[in-house]
Amino acid sequence: MSVFKGQPMDIAANIKQIQERIAAVCQSCGRDPDEVRLVAVSKKKPAAAIEAAVTAGQTLLGESYVQECVAKIETVKAAAEWHFIGALQSNKVKYLRGKVAMIHSVDRFSLAEEIDRQWGKDNACVDILIQVNLGEEESKSGTTASDLIALVKQVARLQHVRIKGLMALPPWEADLEEVRPYFRQLRELAEQIDALALPNVTMQELSMGMSHDFEVAIEEGSTLVRVGTAIFGAR
Ligand SMILES: *Cc1c(COP(=O)(O)O)cnc(C)c1O
Repeated sequence: MSVFKGQPMDIAANIKQIQERIAAVCQSCGRDPDEVRLVAVSKKKPAAAIEAAVTAGQTLLGESYVQECVAKIETVKAAAEWHFIGALQSNKVKYLRGKVAMIHSVDRFSLAEEIDRQWGKDNACVDILIQVNLGEEESKSGTTASDLIALVKQVARLQHVRIKGLMALPPWEADLEEVRPYFRQLRELAEQIDALALPNVTMQELSMGMSHDFEVAIEEGSTLVRVGTAIFGAR
């Protein structure tokens, strides 16, 4: 009996299928598939499921809850790159210190300062993305598009974080053409910031697109697609 929903075989097959879909959409819109990385979102799934993914070659993993993230990093022995993608309280940043390669969900200066303080203890530096709440939905974190540039400028002065791009989690739309303008807006915001040529800021990453809409996100410039359900099954 399996300890998790979704057999290891399914997980490997799902990853292969998603990679094929990424390659196909890149081909159709003229992008280099190497520019698009798949982040397998393993939240609420047991370590055994993650191990199946890593065995299948999927070594970039995303987690949304701090305690769960830390526990899994300790349990999954295989070498993997972990990204933190969920809402983050400042008082929990210390648990992530030195354990994650990127934090996608920085949406306020106080959080960036705490990340800076924690990584500073190891005299290290962590890659971060600024999360933008494009739909201005109350249920979601993220700075507003109008506050974004001021926040980027403020965070750019910190020594132990490097801004690598933007992240968004736009409103869920059944019609993918309705979500496309949000992805496009995130890319345009990144282009605006890039044009400012701020020190310590690059806009090389756009973290956008999930199981339901990653193909449209890639067409609009995504470099990190965060896919959970389509790999690991329903949560
Ligand atoms: C859960 C989650 C995902 C993955 O969503 P799926 O629809 O399961 O692919 C992506 N991004 C964030 C921030 C998440 O919390």
